[in-house]
Amino acid sequence: MRALMWFRGDLRVRDNPALDAACRAASKDANGGVVAAFTICPKQWQAHDWADVRVGFMMRTLAELQDALAERNIPLRIVTTPTFAEAPKALGWLAQEVRAGALYFNDEYEINEQRRDEQVQAAFEKAGRAVHRFTDQVVFRPGEVLTKDERFYTVFTPFKKAWINHWREGEPPEVLGLPKKQPEIDVASDEIPQHVSGIDFTNDLAERWPAGEKEAAKRLDRFVEGRLADYKDARDLYPMDGTSTLSPYLAAGAISPRQCFWGALEANNNRLDSGSKGAATWISELIWREFYRNILVGFPRVSMHQPFRTETRSIPWRDDEEELAAWKEGRTGYPVVDAAMRCLSATGWMHNRLRMIVAMFLSKHLLLDWRLGEKHFMRSLVDGDLANNNGGWQWSASTGTDAAPYFRVFNPFLQSKRYDPKGEFIRAWVPELAGVEDGNAIHNPQEHAGGGLFARLDYPEPIVDHAKARDRVMEAWGVMK
Ligand SMILES: Cc1cc2nc3c(=O)[nH]c(=O)nc-3n(C[C@H](O)[C@H](O)[C@H](O)COP(=O)(O)OP(=O)(O)OC[C@H]3O[C@@H](n4cnc5c(N)ncnc54)[C@H](O)[C@@H]3O)c2cc1C
Repeated sequence: MRALMWFRGDLRVRDNPALDAACRAASKDANGGVVAAFTICPKQWQAHDWADVRVGFMMRTLAELQDALAERNIPLRIVTTPTFAEAPKALGWLAQEVRAGALYFNDEYEINEQRRDEQVQAAFEKAGRAVHRFTDQVVFRPGEVLTKDERFYTVFTPFKKAWINHWREGEPPEVLGLPKKQPEIDVASDEIPQHVSGIDFTNDLAERWPAGEKEAAKRLDRFVEGRLADYKDARDLYPMDGTSTLSPYLAAGAISPRQCFWGALEANNNRLDSGSKGAATWISELIWREFYRNILVGFPRVSMHQPFRTETRSIPWRDDEEELAAWKEGRTGYPVVDAAMRCLSATGWMHNRLRMIVAMFLSKHLLLDWRLGEKHFMRSLVDGDLANNNGGWQWSASTGTDAAPYFRVFNPFLQSKRYDPKGEFIRAWVPELAGVEDGNAIHNPQEHAGGGLFARLDYPEPIVDHAKARDRVMEAWGVMK
């Protein structure tokens, strides 16, 4: 039987469970063959705030995938539907046209994606076509690692412990190799579109973010052989290149989480939470990714603009367009915040420590609704990912899963001094401050640039006073100072 393999956020041929199964099944039939499909949904992508740079990266990843599929005689068909709603019909027509008897895909966990998949599955089954679904985005399907009373975990550390036990006690999935080459079939590939209606990815930072699974594998190897060992100490020092920069590749599915876990395990004598501190810490970050996918499935409200902690619905968020614009454009007068936001606009990416600093600044110093920041990040990030982005924003805004018994408000000046002591990152992104010398002035110029220097810098005064902002947010939350 011919198989239709529907690619989405899993744009690779290696270690792709649905593709592997489709190829195995089709190989059993002399008249089989596999046809691949990808659905472009411009209106849906816009409604989900997918960044131009992310779509551009995805389309380039798709082109790489098409070449890799062609080597295995698998044509790639592109189907454009404005939204997810038309996907069942459009894929049904395609299946009919290419005479596919079964559909294969890897699960996705956002609420609209889940509904789309259920509708596609129902339509295919109604038409007498089998549907085969697989777990790919995570090592263990969300809901597989539960508390003793069968609930989703709401706190990371116990989840991590249980996740590691589950790996040890069960049979963790291995990395799959290349799928079987298929016989040639009479279906031609479509061209990858250079344009997607309403999305402009002419400047998609192709040099900064080369696409495809080969590039992803290279990055993983380089990281595991090099920076992994020092990851625990270097991961927060954002001027250094201490992290893997694999997030865009994980988000597009150019690499699988299994490939990442096994890469780290091989470098760490198969140990998950002992051995090299660097490897154990990186593995822990990968488990955060698994955790946030469990939160998405266990608490679907987070996919629908609702806080994880429902009691935080009553927080009196302020409304200030000018301050929001200053934050987005990097004009807050807080050098570390401005440097990070300008870096995001220019590169589509931001270091994790900086994501936490700017998210806390927006939601706590400015007391602006975290959803505004979440949206801006999604619209800007090459690695935009609902589960991680929502998880990170809600953690930072204290509306999410943070287990800390106190109310966390970072002091941006101190964070800056601690993680970028010489102010290198600030000088790189805020040219107005490039001439400021080392010391406190680069982190907090208004307070420390003496001798009239601050007046001469073409740099704004802080839009909010740190101590007053701290008091204001504590009061808004009804938290004891
Ligand atoms: C406010 C905020 C927004 C975020 N938005 C996103 C987003 O849209 N997409 C995204 O992939 N990550 C997001 N993160 C998580 C994290 O910042 C990035 O995954 C990380 O910076 C990517 O860099 P890296 O690939 O070099 O990570 P590494 O440090 O090398 O980690 C490897 C991988 O582990 C996962 N990971 C690492 N840290 C986290 C974390 N805190 N939470 C969940 N997964 C993690 C990522 O998939 C990452 O690629 C966000 C964090 C915050 C605080």
